[in-house]
Amino acid sequence: MNKTKSISLVVLILTALTFSNAAQAKLNVVTTLTDLRSITSEVGKDLITVESIAKGTQDPHFIEAKPSFMLKMSKADLVISIGLDLEIGWLPSILQGARNPKIAVGQPGNLEVGPMVEPLEVVKGNISRSEGDVHPFGNPHVTLDPIRAGQIAVIIGKRLAELDAEHATQYQANASAFDTRMKEKTKLWQARVEKSGVKKAVSYHKTLTYFFSRFNIENPAILEPKPGIPPTSGHIIDVIKIIKDQKIPVILVENYFDPTVTNKIKSDVPSVRSATVAVAIDGAPKIDKMDDLYEALIKSVEGK
Ligand SMILES: [Zn+2]
Repeated sequence: MNKTKSISLVVLILTALTFSNAAQAKLNVVTTLTDLRSITSEVGKDLITVESIAKGTQDPHFIEAKPSFMLKMSKADLVISIGLDLEIGWLPSILQGARNPKIAVGQPGNLEVGPMVEPLEVVKGNISRSEGDVHPFGNPHVTLDPIRAGQIAVIIGKRLAELDAEHATQYQANASAFDTRMKEKTKLWQARVEKSGVKKAVSYHKTLTYFFSRFNIENPAILEPKPGIPPTSGHIIDVIKIIKDQKIPVILVENYFDPTVTNKIKSDVPSVRSATVAVAIDGAPKIDKMDDLYEALIKSVEGK
């Protein structure tokens, strides 16, 4: 074997090794939402790559099923979504366009976390479309509750461990650390909400249902007359009456909705506070981790 031949053999072997390492290196995860991306990243750390389809500034009910998303999903080992019909308007077309059997519904590469964390507002009996954009399987905005976020981390940790058994212990340890952190911080956040004296709040959509429920805040009025239907002036008058009667101190408007709808309310009830809030990771600057998201929401309740 001459020198050139032996060098090219070495190059060949090295190239083959590099490729085989890359192939088994990192799990490629795609999530529907930034919150799921953030939780997955807490669990997978640098053992995985993860990106989100929706941006944190977008209403997760309405995302365009772009070809670039199909391309991303065509290379994914795992797709993580909320389910409960949240992504029903866009995820099925992306999955179909991706032509990736690994991530088909029912496969280990497809994980829906919402149904596994005790959804609230599950509709019993028949519902009609006249009730608006109702989710019969329950409210899908589960990640706004830090305790459920911890449970979601554990669920994701289990699935990552199944798909990449070699790193199972790390995934489970990371998930459990996040879960513990959320439990500890929730106690502190609950104490702050209690101290703030806020017991009732109005929101635009039922996005904050799980947050309110965890922090013992009642939500007697929603600015949308029905889910997915923008506020009407007649409905706003009803909401103003509820705010006055029940002395509701604060309105939280999810920041991808029109904040000017509260102007009419504030001119009628000057004492009511209104705040525009991010309701997802990347929904506003410096909302990088789930901790930041809850912290910002708690501050809005406190009026800080
Ligand atoms: Zn919704």
